[in-house]
Amino acid sequence: MFDSLSETRPGPVVQVVAAVLSRDRTCTFPGCAVPAFRCDLDRVVRSAPRAPGTHATEADVGPQDLISLCRHHHVVRVRQGWRPELTPDGTVRWTSPTGHRYVRERRGHAAGPSSLRTGIRP
Ligand SMILES: [Zn+2]
Repeated sequence: MFDSLSETRPGPVVQVVAAVLSRDRTCTFPGCAVPAFRCDLDRVVRSAPRAPGTHATEADVGPQDLISLCRHHHVVRVRQGWRPELTPDGTVRWTSPTGHRYVRERRGHAAGPSSLRTGIRP
């Protein structure tokens, strides 16, 4: 993928991308199963507003500001006006253009009985 190692840029950006992909696993649009590594990372509105007088900068962008969206749903979001909201636990709440709400649970960890068996490590 990279032509030379000198083109890779270690640092927060790489860590942020890795954290988002690990958390989302797939496109976060309701019902979409496109793998996160094939998605765009899109900015979301924070569920907790910033303190008055502070402004976001690129250096502030973290996993809590980004969701995985496949190209198709990225376009759908922008053109149709779907609004995502990312909660601190990784759940994405979507509001449709008609005001209906959809919840997309975090998929970064297996949920259910299989994760309770002994011998399974994170
Ligand atoms: Zn999608």
